[in-house]
Amino acid sequence: MRNVAVLGATGSIGTATLDVLANLPAQQWRVWGLSGHAKLSQLADSVAKLTPAPELIVTSSAKAAAELDADRWPSSSRVRVGAEALVELAADPAVDIVVAAIVGRAGLESTLAAVGSGKRVALANKETLVVAGPVVKQQQVASGAELLPVDSEHSAIFQCLQASQTPAQRIILTSSGGPFRTWTADQMREASVEEALAHPTWQMGPKISVDSATMMNKALEIIEACWLFDVPAESIEVMIHPQSVIHSMVEFIDGSVIAQLSPPDMRLPIQYALTYPERSVCPAPRLDCGQRMDWTLEPADRERFPALALGFEVAAAGGTAGAVVNAANEAAVGLFLDRKIRFTDIVPACRRALEQHQHERHPTLQRLIELDQWARAEVQRWHCGANF
Ligand code: NAD
Ligand code: MG
Repeated sequence: MRNVAVLGATGSIGTATLDVLANLPAQQWRVWGLSGHAKLSQLADSVAKLTPAPELIVTSSAKAAAELDADRWPSSSRVRVGAEALVELAADPAVDIVVAAIVGRAGLESTLAAVGSGKRVALANKETLVVAGPVVKQQQVASGAELLPVDSEHSAIFQCLQASQTPAQRIILTSSGGPFRTWTADQMREASVEEALAHPTWQMGPKISVDSATMMNKALEIIEACWLFDVPAESIEVMIHPQSVIHSMVEFIDGSVIAQLSPPDMRLPIQYALTYPERSVCPAPRLDCGQRMDWTLEPADRERFPALALGFEVAAAGGTAGAVVNAANEAAVGLFLDRKIRFTDIVPACRRALEQHQHERHPTLQRLIELDQWARAEVQRWHCGANF
């Protein structure tokens, strides 16, 4: 029996994970614990479908927990409230696999706890690697944790790397280009929240949807790839592939390029992170060979999408750069979603925070957390001073 903890079970990745687990053999897979922040009524509905009931349910927001009737939870489950309880769930000795699907820096402590306690970690929460890559890697080495990518591009790369014992020479990250792939810079200046959230190929939570529109998501993924696969930023290329079928590619020393393909559906990479090295039947759709398929690949436009250059820069700088840019991005995306700043203010806010901070090569976790708070406050301060 493999006991799974799903952190962020009410989100886009969390609900897809519960669907994957419902389709895996019940004698071998159990949702042992899960967490939600808001939408606790939805969490209670998901819990009601689980047999046996989970051992531990964590509601990280005390405010949301207080608003839900306590008798919505199964009597046999323990219910814990508050952010610290996430760490306890992630590190519980009964848990074999942690699916880290909380969005943003809020997932940092629980993801680190899962890595630190030597579990298999199915990592969706890329921001943790961006903020604290060196700390995650140190803890992984010390604990022997397995870090398996859920991000579709990184799952593709991980699958492609298995084609050779010789290290890869180049990683080609694909990107759909997001909703503004064909927009001019002037059009993007006027982009609304609704337009930024309307992703052409993926259904995702609001933060990553905006990140896909700015291409900050690809920037975070460049940094994520460097940490996951221990490669330098120079070995990574980004190509635009609007159909989102080729999830990424790897080039070996002989020039051979291996790609991983499947219709866009996160259940496949989620399931692979759970079942690796085995494969199992998956509820995600398959390529339809009865249909003509036109797939295109083109270079990314770094002028219209300045987030890309920022991503390469941050990946090469390492140290404190990732924590600062990630925090500035989270703060700026929040302001954009609240309709307080323009879409085109997001990436400049990140660049400004990066340039304002004193870069340190070997920061402690404590320092990274302080800088996260500093960068958020700076973005708020600039916003209030209307300096965008
Ligand atoms: P989402 O917004 O749909 O869900 C986020 C989850 O995190 C929810 O369960 C929410 O309750 C929880 N959460 C939010 N704030 C929290 C807090 N302060 N404390 C504790 N829990 C909190 O997001 P998502 O799209 O599922 O993305 C989750 C993660 O997966 C992100 O890091 C994202 O970059 C990554 N990811 C998502 C996709 C996708 O297709 N959605 C693809 C690749 C990677
Ligand atoms: Mg991705």
